[in-house]
Amino acid sequence: MYQSLYRKYRPDSFDKVIGQDHITKTLVNQIKSGNIAHAYLLTGTRGTGKTSVARIFARAINCLSPINGSPCGECDCCKKLLSGTSLDVVEIDAASNNSVDDARAIRDNVRYSPVDCRYKVYIIDEVHQLSGAAFNALLKTLEEPPAHAVFILATTEVQKIPATIMSRCLRLDFHLVPQETLERHVAHIFDLEGVKYTPEGVSAIAAAGEGSVRDTLSVADMCVSYSDIVDYDSVLGVLGANDPSMIAKIVFATLSGDVKCAIELVEEAASLGKSIQLLTRDLTKYFRDLIIIKHDNECNKVLKLPKKLFDAAAEIAVSFDAVVLMRALDIFSGIEAKSRYSNQPKILLETAIIKTATLSGEDLTDLIAKVAGIEAKLKEYESGGAAKPEYSALKSLLSIPAERPAVTQNSAPTTPAPSGAEDIPHFDPSSAVESLPFDVTPTEKETPIETDAFPKDFSEVQAKLPEKLRLEMLQLRGRILNVLRDHPLKMLFVALGGDLDGSEQHSDDKVPDTLMSLSEGKIIIAFKNEMNYNYCNTPSRIEELKKVVSNEIGAPVEVVLVNCSDSQGLTTGDLIKLFSGAERININRRK
Ligand SMILES: [Zn+2]
Repeated sequence: MYQSLYRKYRPDSFDKVIGQDHITKTLVNQIKSGNIAHAYLLTGTRGTGKTSVARIFARAINCLSPINGSPCGECDCCKKLLSGTSLDVVEIDAASNNSVDDARAIRDNVRYSPVDCRYKVYIIDEVHQLSGAAFNALLKTLEEPPAHAVFILATTEVQKIPATIMSRCLRLDFHLVPQETLERHVAHIFDLEGVKYTPEGVSAIAAAGEGSVRDTLSVADMCVSYSDIVDYDSVLGVLGANDPSMIAKIVFATLSGDVKCAIELVEEAASLGKSIQLLTRDLTKYFRDLIIIKHDNECNKVLKLPKKLFDAAAEIAVSFDAVVLMRALDIFSGIEAKSRYSNQPKILLETAIIKTATLSGEDLTDLIAKVAGIEAKLKEYESGGAAKPEYSALKSLLSIPAERPAVTQNSAPTTPAPSGAEDIPHFDPSSAVESLPFDVTPTEKETPIETDAFPKDFSEVQAKLPEKLRLEMLQLRGRILNVLRDHPLKMLFVALGGDLDGSEQHSDDKVPDTLMSLSEGKIIIAFKNEMNYNYCNTPSRIEELKKVVSNEIGAPVEVVLVNCSDSQGLTTGDLIKLFSGAERININRRK
């Protein structure tokens, strides 16, 4: 009868365990010194040897004459345990025995002394599957285990193990086995089995195993039965992977901007019954390989591709800019994960190809020129040299006389969502007019505004405010700053215009760089200094300000921050309106 390679070469002593020296050394030392713990927790990805190590350990601690810490395989105990006739080593699969009754059965049984051996060993596989109650029952046993009991818990999901259980176990973490170790292991087995192979074929098998000995050997098994000689192509055939030259062709067409060719090749691959997800993964990996080659053309030691494939890849890597390759990898790795859960993976793949192809086709110098142009315009705009948008088309459409440049304003969110009822503008025709991106409210009769200029500082604004309002605002500001002076967040005090060694109260002679007014449950804080505005304008700082101000005023208050720095284009008139009635100008206009 055919026995799979994995079972045939399953280790029966610690020295045959692959890639887990850090664990086998610990266990061998414990056995040699007779210092056995009552509970072990073996964690790690599937196929890394947890169950094998548990079984070897169970036999080794019972073996009458262990050799170098491993079971001898010859003594009575070893023989009984190997044949499975002894009841002293119990293997339980927690996936199917996860109830509290199962855990209680263990607790009841563990009391009885072992029949054939020195220790009674319980190997509980997939232990994370136990129910909460079962864990509690198990914990009781682990707290006071009989001297003859040893528990070996194995899991792939250590984060699901309760801390109470974990703290009673000696934890051993199994690592993924490095590819080179797997390669040596496979080659060794092929030698013993008399299988013909090429080094690239063995590398491809080890890579497919992704660190798991079990997975690697099952791929090896399939390859052996698939062809007489295990080489790169036959391994790809077994894995259902795409023809590497097809991948290279698609990548080259994509990078060259030949969308039509690339999409036709994808179509061809799909018509051969290849999975699109796999194709996407292979393409992504190919882009990654290209970037590695771009940086180091000696890297085939790492990539381990057959020479002709490596040479082809190296040629592609030389022909394209590193930025273009990075961009392609970015696009493809972005869709790779999505593709796994999508029912339209082909559309995703085609989109990625088109995106990459159009970007690569565009000359980079063109792009750089475009960006430079945009930057220059932006600078011109910021320095006030360029005209601000006039919305003339929109104005003529609404037949509103165009008289002022548009006012652009920045606004702070009054509060984060939950209590945001006041934020929702109640709809009435006049407020609808206000939400236009320019001012159409008639100028106020009682305080005619002479200037549409941007104020140099707040003194110009203060000068135009009614005396009573101006004093109220100064007092308010003094009060708030006074409270904030002792606030643990000193920067908040400074950002709001506080002077750490002076007094802010009624300091009429100094031009403040913040103004505050209170109206209808809202405190408006206007900043002349954009940096200070930015400092305060975070949800947590706004929340903190809200708390401080509400506390000082004695009633819940919303906080509205307004950026009045030069770049915002608020005129003196706008600010006067802002302070003499919060709703006069719409500071949320940008939305
Ligand atoms: Zn023995």
